[in-house]
Amino acid sequence: MFELLKEQPEDKILMLMQAYREDPREAKIDLGVGVYKNAEGKTPIMRAVKAAEKQLWEVEETKSYTGLAGDVGFADAMFDLLIGDACPRDCVAAAATPGGTGAVRQGFDMIRMANREARVFVSDPTWPNHLSILKHMEMHIQPYRYFDSETRSVNFAGMIEDIADARVGDVVLLHGCCHNPTGANLTLEQWQQVIDTLLKTGATPMIDIAYQGFGDGLAEDAAGLRMVVAQMPEVLIAASCSKNFGVYRERTGLLLAVAQDKVRRQANQGMLNYLNRQNYSFPPDHGARLVTMVLQDDALRMDWEEEVREIREGVLALRQQLAGELARLTNSDRFAFVAEHRGMFSRLGATPEQVEAMRVSHGVYMVGDSRINMAGLNKDSVPVLAEAMVAAGV
Ligand code: PMP
Repeated sequence: MFELLKEQPEDKILMLMQAYREDPREAKIDLGVGVYKNAEGKTPIMRAVKAAEKQLWEVEETKSYTGLAGDVGFADAMFDLLIGDACPRDCVAAAATPGGTGAVRQGFDMIRMANREARVFVSDPTWPNHLSILKHMEMHIQPYRYFDSETRSVNFAGMIEDIADARVGDVVLLHGCCHNPTGANLTLEQWQQVIDTLLKTGATPMIDIAYQGFGDGLAEDAAGLRMVVAQMPEVLIAASCSKNFGVYRERTGLLLAVAQDKVRRQANQGMLNYLNRQNYSFPPDHGARLVTMVLQDDALRMDWEEEVREIREGVLALRQQLAGELARLTNSDRFAFVAEHRGMFSRLGATPEQVEAMRVSHGVYMVGDSRINMAGLNKDSVPVLAEAMVAAGV
């Protein structure tokens, strides 16, 4: 029967990683895959996570199953980190998932259970996995304008016009912060206008937040999400701990369903448990437990917040250096957007031919849509990228 299966396209980013590995040049630069890397090109285990892991080894007495929704302590700690006091805890159902991808997938599944005809409005562009999962699930995809390739900032008028078309029973997927792949984000005033528009349409927002703390700060990056949660009757939130806790391979994420009251919350909790049960039964626990320990212990938390700050400021410094270098080389402020963008990614606005030219001439590897992972750079490689961009005529 296997001959009946259609061959699936290979993941473009994984193909890029392969090509990078095979490039014999010493001075090649990998700006492809979306993991944080320090100045030495390493993706370190965060200090507080390592310390929690040591403690856990001492105190953990069983590897028996947790609940279907994972450990409640994890949901509580993440609720505080994401939502704070924007809405009552007892209106929110939550289930641990394998990574943020698991949360996105379970969120889509919940939408489909509620309304097979739901259209999911997604930013153009968005994280490619959003599209690929929706397609796999045979759900309706409705792109909304988001990125203005001229200004490399948000085409807000286009966005509002497009999401105003959503109806009751539709879902509008928003990036909580650090938009992937563009790096262009909404201001708080714009978040408010999105909320006003969604309230008029009756559509449900779903927020994917995978980089909290990497943009402007832990609370700052959740500010838009908190406004949505405080003002809208129903919200889905898919959160990832992969980046901000550096626990990528532990697969740590959480899906939250915000409802108007406790009764609805209980029904939603049943649905989240059911969906976990159908798809993989109990979610992974190791990463979730480490995250919970870090968030609950004052000393570990302080150290973690400090390390997140170091990461954030390091990426911002690279942004400023690159924008400065490009201003110098081009004698213009065309590339000022690099310093305005937030999070690990920026879309440079280069054509596929220019992306290829930069790979050939300078060994710079980026995704075909010209998304770069800023964390793949360091002080010494920033001038090389700037030179490659100018040489390729970006
Ligand atoms: N959403 C977005 C927008 C992302 O960029 C990512 C990571 N690439 C995720 C969700 C999920 O990541 P993970 O499954 O590794 O937690």
